[in-house]
Amino acid sequence: MNRIFSGVQPTGNLHLGNYLGAVRNWVTLQNDYECVFCIVDMHAITLWQDPAALKAHTREVAAAMLAAGVDAKKHILFNQSQNPDHAQLAWIFNCVARIGWLNRMTQFKDKAGKNRENASVGLYAYPNLMSADILVYKATHVPVGEDQKQHLELARDTAQKFNSDYGVEFFPLPEPLILGSATRVMSLRDGAKKMSKSDESDYSRINMTDDADTISLKLKKAKTDPLPLPDSVEGLEGRPEAANLLDIWAALSDGTRAAAIERFAGRQFSEFKKELTDLAVAVLGPINSEMKRYLADPAAIDAVLKSGAERARALSAPILAEAENLVGFLRP
Ligand code: ATP
Ligand code: MG
Repeated sequence: MNRIFSGVQPTGNLHLGNYLGAVRNWVTLQNDYECVFCIVDMHAITLWQDPAALKAHTREVAAAMLAAGVDAKKHILFNQSQNPDHAQLAWIFNCVARIGWLNRMTQFKDKAGKNRENASVGLYAYPNLMSADILVYKATHVPVGEDQKQHLELARDTAQKFNSDYGVEFFPLPEPLILGSATRVMSLRDGAKKMSKSDESDYSRINMTDDADTISLKLKKAKTDPLPLPDSVEGLEGRPEAANLLDIWAALSDGTRAAAIERFAGRQFSEFKKELTDLAVAVLGPINSEMKRYLADPAAIDAVLKSGAERARALSAPILAEAENLVGFLRP
């Protein structure tokens, strides 16, 4: 059976973009693939994380995934740092991937900001750890949002270079799975920026932990323009905020952008936002209460993660051992 690796950073609570663009699709993929779901805490510390918050966010993200329908018995859910094989293979990949490749990564440029000299080495080498996350399980498919496509290309290049350097078809070239209509949910404050956990404004995103009143307030404050909603796709030209809200409505209702446009054509944002709020609350409400139930028992979450890490390592250990053997590491 084909194997999937998916990762999410415990850099905060999950938001609507993570849910629509990632977690919701992972739940569906569980029927057709063997899935390794990973809370990538080692990626998270490429930017400063408060230690207590990092632990809390790791449990929160686990709870959100379980509440959304991740089956941690049938599949694997764990936090990355608890399987050291990722870091071990990442070092090998640091020596396979080329500096020129990493220099092209746009996420590094976005996250490092203007003061690049002051960014952590980890932020720069992040894509090599991501390649290791995937390839240490020989995962064949990786569901990614638009923002991760470039990193996945790099993972494929690294797998290919490893295979040709060592003269064997050892690593598969992982395929991206870009799923659903909401591969890039945008910020509620700026239609040109993606919704992100690390955005400093909480009003830029809807968190999976937000209650109905908070969702309503955030959507009321969401940036729009003065025109009524358009009656055609062309009418969305130059209106990124309108496009984003209609796409969110489409994704939450399992419909298309065209259907959303047809439904709201010529209406005012205020009316549309009311319907959007009701829909968001209806979809997120049940997940929200399930999440609270999981979080009430942190020991149970930890037990799920611990068992996941053990099962993950059982999969990765023989693959890592063979990679090390190919590289020429002696096992006396
Ligand atoms: P950070 O700001 O810390 O990078 P993030 O919000 O980008 O956080 P990640 O943990 O990096 O979240 O990504 C987890 C998953 O969610 C990935 O599969 C990513 O492609 C997807 N994702 C992230 N943001 C969005 C978004 N705005 N729309 C759709 N999918 C998204
Ligand atoms: Mg991200």
